[in-house]
Amino acid sequence: MEILKDYDLTELNTFHIKAKAKFFVEVKNEKDLVKLFLTPMFQESEKLFLGGGSNILFTQDFPGIVILNKLKGIEILEDDSETVLVKSLGGEWWNDLVNFTVERGFWGIENLSLIPGTVGATPVQNIGAYGVELKDVLQNVEAYEIATGEKKIFSCAECKLGYRDSIFKRELKGKYFISAVTLKLNKNENENLRYKTLKDYIEKNNLIIKNPKDISRAVAEIRRGKLPDPKILGNAGSFFKNVYISEVDFKNILMSYPEMPYFLEDLPSETVDGKLEGVIKIPSGWLIEQCGPRHGGGSWKGYREGNVGVHERQALVLVNYGGATGEEIKKLAYQIIDSVYQKFGLRLTPEVNFV
Ligand SMILES: Cc1cc2nc3c(=O)[nH]c(=O)nc-3n(C[C@H](O)[C@H](O)[C@H](O)COP(=O)(O)OP(=O)(O)OC[C@H]3O[C@@H](n4cnc5c(N)ncnc54)[C@H](O)[C@@H]3O)c2cc1C
Repeated sequence: MEILKDYDLTELNTFHIKAKAKFFVEVKNEKDLVKLFLTPMFQESEKLFLGGGSNILFTQDFPGIVILNKLKGIEILEDDSETVLVKSLGGEWWNDLVNFTVERGFWGIENLSLIPGTVGATPVQNIGAYGVELKDVLQNVEAYEIATGEKKIFSCAECKLGYRDSIFKRELKGKYFISAVTLKLNKNENENLRYKTLKDYIEKNNLIIKNPKDISRAVAEIRRGKLPDPKILGNAGSFFKNVYISEVDFKNILMSYPEMPYFLEDLPSETVDGKLEGVIKIPSGWLIEQCGPRHGGGSWKGYREGNVGVHERQALVLVNYGGATGEEIKKLAYQIIDSVYQKFGLRLTPEVNFV
């Protein structure tokens, strides 16, 4: 295990923001991880755990140590006639784990196909897409406590997973390194086509769903058509979370904006701090499309200023056209937040983690 100095992180974040880490280390096994945790240099430094860098915005060089998760391995732990427990170490690519499961006919994470990043980061924001969240299949999370180097197993309930939220983003932020995730998947047919876009795509293309791989393929096709590939255009997927409001607030806003789209059926799971019953989802992408600078045509969608912009097909996605700094992206994000607040009185929350 080699600790490198002044390490360039440009290729380790999907925004392709130029930033350096004062110290950098790749962790390939759990023994090295514990050894590292117990060194005084590690204990004294600021720390950043990094997976695929697909949910991170570097706004400056990182003054401490970046630990890149390279723990690899996927295994089937238990298997009965109905369910299977699959454990993956945290440095595996999430989509490789999806492929591992759909190839074997296991149902549960096919709707989460093609989400970039590592397995170890998935509980941090409880990844979700096309009507499924990690929470629906998570059995437990293994994580090492930074202060002691001790391993703890968190049950799904203990992770307090909510809409793009978890205990690892709140009270345990930066306190544990997630080393492995175990999922409980179904061996029997258990398709989830509640999400309208997915259902419509399958119907429109006359697809016959025989196994989870068929759904995985459909999800991948939809995603490729909708989202820019970070290898070609720097981005971190949806920059903002969707907005959830009470029925009372919703009715008030609807009086001024009767055309505002909303979803009742797609309720997120409970948030860390409370219930979401009676909550209405407003797609943030739509709110962003309705606002924007005059010289940009009155909508943020497709807006570009210098090296940064808002993607032309997906208003939730901020992009680096090349050479942008994290500060430039952050500034654009806050301009968008302000303009949406001015118009609708609704405050967008970034999904991306600022560093
Ligand atoms: C094109 C695109 C599409 C996307 N689509 C979706 C989507 O549909 N749904 C969705 O939910 N997300 C989506 N995302 C966001 C992103 O893919 C997920 O959040 C993913 O889980 C991040 O994984 P990562 O390994 O890249 O995490 P990173 O960006 O490396 O890290 C994210 C956060 O987790 C922390 N972290 C990382 N690893 C660990 C660890 N082992 N232990 C503790 N903390 C850790 C980091 O410190 C950081 O705070 C998308 C991103 C892109 C670029």
